[in-house]
Amino acid sequence: MPLAFITGVTGQDGTYLARALLAEGVEVHGLVRPGSVAIVEPGVTVHEADIRDSGALQGLVADLKPDELYHLAGQSSVGASWEDPVGTVEQTGAPVAALLQAVERHSRQTRLVNASSAEIFGVAPAPQNESTPIAPVSPYGAAKALGYFLVSSFRERGVHASSAILYNHESPLRPERFVTRKITVAAARIARGLQETVTLGNLDASRDWGWAPDYVDAMRSAVRQPTPGDHVIGTGELHTVRDFVVAAFAAAGIDDWQPHVVTDDTFFRPVDPATQAADASRARDRLGWAPTIAFPELVERMVRSDLARIDESV
Ligand code: GDP
Repeated sequence: MPLAFITGVTGQDGTYLARALLAEGVEVHGLVRPGSVAIVEPGVTVHEADIRDSGALQGLVADLKPDELYHLAGQSSVGASWEDPVGTVEQTGAPVAALLQAVERHSRQTRLVNASSAEIFGVAPAPQNESTPIAPVSPYGAAKALGYFLVSSFRERGVHASSAILYNHESPLRPERFVTRKITVAAARIARGLQETVTLGNLDASRDWGWAPDYVDAMRSAVRQPTPGDHVIGTGELHTVRDFVVAAFAAAGIDDWQPHVVTDDTFFRPVDPATQAADASRARDRLGWAPTIAFPELVERMVRSDLARIDESV
């Protein structure tokens, strides 16, 4: 039975990935931060270590000798990276080096996939693909760019290492610090009379938003390719935050969203890439990957889940 090791196993992607791997019969081990109270998918063997503890990470890779290593852990919010740039580099950039070195030294058969991000492209014109210059404009993007270059450096030395350059991907498991879930939770609460308004930032900001389980499938496929490589993973469709608001309130049964949405400068970003849209043709050709859930269905699923959560709790 193959063995997979997932860093960030309690996050949105880690949860979906663990489920998919367990369903295939893979033995799944996951890294969680010490003292974490987050829910781990049943069936996952848990290892506690701080992601910044490179010695602990390397010891785990040397002991487990995983067939597949999915590196998902790290500070995952662009907004938060402006609050704590040093922590972002320590948690999102440096651990990639520790894991790659461990694979090279102690577990050469391990195939690693690194969850990279569209943020490495900064404000490059849309659409972006694997040839787009790396030019991040946030501490998060810069930390992810470091990871990306480490992966390609170790790949040159013969390590089976790939980056999945993931565009925004959402689901009912997305934390509320991300705008999509913030909106769907608020729309559901407003629909049920639990609050009146939601305060948001830039409604004109746009993103390429996809369905998280599709992105996890792309990572599984990348790890299993005979040759490693980097792939842009996204839908190619841009929608604004306003589009998301309109769709979410409609899905919650509220036609007129405007009285319920307030904007506040504190939620605006210093620099906000406006044109992140993926050209995922390489993933389509090499991985046979394509998104399965379109934007309206994605929004509806998230809203339905948040409405159900409220209705079950009363
Ligand atoms: P990320 O920045 O792409 O990692 O994802 P977010 O979901 O945090 O933000 C997506 C976009 O929504 C960004 O362009 C934000 O500027 C915009 N946005 C507008 N209002 C909000 C808000 O209230 N919270 C967050 N997190 N983002 C907002």
